[in-house]
Amino acid sequence: MAEAFGNYIGGTWRQTADLSENRNPARLDDVIGRYARGSAEDVDAAVEAGRDAQPAWAAATPEDRANVLDRAARLIFERVPELGELLAREEGKLRREAEGEVTRAANVMRFFAGEALRLGGEKIASVRAGCEVDVVREPLGVVGLITPWNFPIAIPAWKMAPALAAGNAVVIKPAEITPASTVALVKILEEAGLPAGVVNLVMGSGSVVGNRIVDHPDVRAVSFTGSERVGRQIALAGAEGMKKVQLEMGGKNPMVVMADADLDLAVKVCLDGAFFSTGQRCTASSRLIVEDRIHDAFVEKLDLARAAIRVGDPLEADSQMGPVVSEGQLESNLTYVAQAASEGCEVRGGERLNQAGYFQAPALFLNATNDMKTSQEEIFGPCASVIRVADFDEALATANDTRFGLSSGICTTSLRHATEFRRKSRAGMVMVNLPTAGVDYHVPFGGNKGSSLGAREQGPMAMEFYTSVKTAYSFAGSV
Ligand code: NAP
Ligand code: MG
Repeated sequence: MAEAFGNYIGGTWRQTADLSENRNPARLDDVIGRYARGSAEDVDAAVEAGRDAQPAWAAATPEDRANVLDRAARLIFERVPELGELLAREEGKLRREAEGEVTRAANVMRFFAGEALRLGGEKIASVRAGCEVDVVREPLGVVGLITPWNFPIAIPAWKMAPALAAGNAVVIKPAEITPASTVALVKILEEAGLPAGVVNLVMGSGSVVGNRIVDHPDVRAVSFTGSERVGRQIALAGAEGMKKVQLEMGGKNPMVVMADADLDLAVKVCLDGAFFSTGQRCTASSRLIVEDRIHDAFVEKLDLARAAIRVGDPLEADSQMGPVVSEGQLESNLTYVAQAASEGCEVRGGERLNQAGYFQAPALFLNATNDMKTSQEEIFGPCASVIRVADFDEALATANDTRFGLSSGICTTSLRHATEFRRKSRAGMVMVNLPTAGVDYHVPFGGNKGSSLGAREQGPMAMEFYTSVKTAYSFAGSV
């Protein structure tokens, strides 16, 4: 039988009989392991362990915290092939994409090892004679982290690293369908010398474990990445409990292709944005907005390239797109494909492929309009709508006509179009001649409107969420 993994609470891996199987979406007979289905009581124990361990972790020197993160970074770098294979097996992205994600997790750990040392404050001259004012940043205490399945090692890393650098304790819940990469990451932190109780891992469902993390009175802040629906529930619960909340949610990211674009570059950018990682990226390009004058020539080239994508097992070297993550996600994608056809699109691809896993052909919805359901709702699969527009102004208006605002892009050789799009796009991340997905690890990540709420993640700005500000006054004179 496959190995069993318990929750990690107070520095102990707690075995349990209540387990769920983690299966490879490309090969359904491949069981990666059996993972704990935690309870509300497990969350309570994890929060208590965090509360006990946090003061000493916060009182350690910044160098102690930096050393743990730096050692963890090095251990991840050393194990990229092994961790990449594990990630590809549990999530279904290609081996090279998985290794890229693991490398990102290592880079993130290394970056925040430096931030632990750089975290400082400000000294300001008081308006009162003899007074001193210092503005300092302090950890929050125990923070709750809730993560999705599509980046099962990078997202836990980019939430845990700044939380730990600032001196917080952590209770983390990964998505129930992809716990293995997070377990591996927590084991690496343990091996790197993280004191017991500073990171606690509780696996299981969102409705039980996630819910209790959000509701627990001693969890002072919750950082969540996932769907808009769950994000809204967490925002409401956070308001009720007066907690700090950080939400990173969905996208319906536009990629504009202007008639003055480099056509081959535009095809490459759109293919990457729409179909890499099976389209399962919050920053995926799901609306391709194409200027009329170039539309037919562009669509012909793009569709040929789409049809040539080799869908297959992520561990096989010649595969170019892996499976959809789960049966439920595949069914949802197929429903959207049918919806696109019934809304009047000409659908290319999108069918379930006859293989022993959750495989789907990449899909283009041609002749789409921006008001269609398939142009407004996040599908989160290998499906992109192609929308024809008359000119730049219509392209920009269409790009912004969405309740999301995560990333956006334009392919153009015109400085005027590029500059105006960067200024007027209502997305948190804007790309010129680059895919909407695929971002640097040392700069802010996040969006507007229905895509994000609260402080930005990643880069130096990430420390904002994981700290609170104290303004400290003293008077050293005499009366
Ligand atoms: P999801 O269904 O919202 O789940 C995200 C996490 O929340 C999972 O761990 C889930 O647990 C948990 N959860 C579910 N219900 C909960 C509740 N009532 N209280 C607390 N936690 C709860 O999202 P997903 O299907 O895993 O991921 C896909 C979504 O993530 C897409 O919308 C995508 O755009 C978004 N995403 C956004 C970013 C970004 O940075 N903006 C990055 C990646 C993904 P279980 O699923 O285990 O039950
Ligand atoms: Mg889910």
